[in-house]
Amino acid sequence: MRIIHTDIIKREAKRLIYDCSFFVPPEIKEIYSMMLTEEDAPLARQSLSIILENGEIASREEIPLCQDCGSVIFFLEIGQDVHIEGSSLYDALNEAVACAYQKHYLRKSIVSDPLRRVNTGTNTPSFIHIDIVDGDKISLHVLLKGGGSENASALRMFRPTDSIDSIISFIEEVIVKAGPNPCPPIFLGIGIGGTADVAMVNSKKALLRPIDAPHCDPFYAELEERIKVTLNKTGVGPLGFGGKNTVAAVFIKEAPTHIASLPVALNLNCHSFRKGGIVI
Ligand code: SF4
Repeated sequence: MRIIHTDIIKREAKRLIYDCSFFVPPEIKEIYSMMLTEEDAPLARQSLSIILENGEIASREEIPLCQDCGSVIFFLEIGQDVHIEGSSLYDALNEAVACAYQKHYLRKSIVSDPLRRVNTGTNTPSFIHIDIVDGDKISLHVLLKGGGSENASALRMFRPTDSIDSIISFIEEVIVKAGPNPCPPIFLGIGIGGTADVAMVNSKKALLRPIDAPHCDPFYAELEERIKVTLNKTGVGPLGFGGKNTVAAVFIKEAPTHIASLPVALNLNCHSFRKGGIVI
């Protein structure tokens, strides 16, 4: 049994929030630079240049990448041979959020009740997903999710007999309808299978895969590419001003499902793709 103190988890959670609030990873900068070479339309080129410049200013001057500093979503995989010592794990993660958002002047965006809408003032609670896995480590991932792109999420319960083409049409419909609202170029997470709730969570978990890692199953890797090509023909373009690059990457996470079901869930992440992870 390995003992991990919540102080370590809290410290790493704070560090991850800081890193992804101000620094754009090189692989994402590379994607935008590549898009810039592909675009001819002046507004598309200008949008991508501004996105790149915004990233430079954010890291240089410690200004958040976006004024919407996001909901904090944690994904933890906890090895069953780990004993967590210290305060409650949930408290430790929420303290990390409150502390990071206060210290780094990040906007607090969470209201305590969806209808009465009073800001908690701390950006807590965070949204925490925990899976128990083999081993004696904890994998901690964080996603900072802006409201604009989260609001474009979608779920459709397909029939098992529906074609892959009809699923792609649904995805296209959602992206076109969302237009500029999720601040494209989008990183698109797709959950396929499971139950409705599992598909929705998987559409977010899908976004945790490294940008440059294709799906390990060639069938889904090919489907991801097909969806990306289709969506980039919609013409929505960077920031919705038109262009060839609406979607930066597509990530599918599939799951076993009921014989009568075929849920498909979409989670859109804007160009400000703020995520990070560590294994403790
Ligand atoms: S969708 Fe993303 S880039 Fe657009 S305002 Fe929200 S957090 Fe910022």
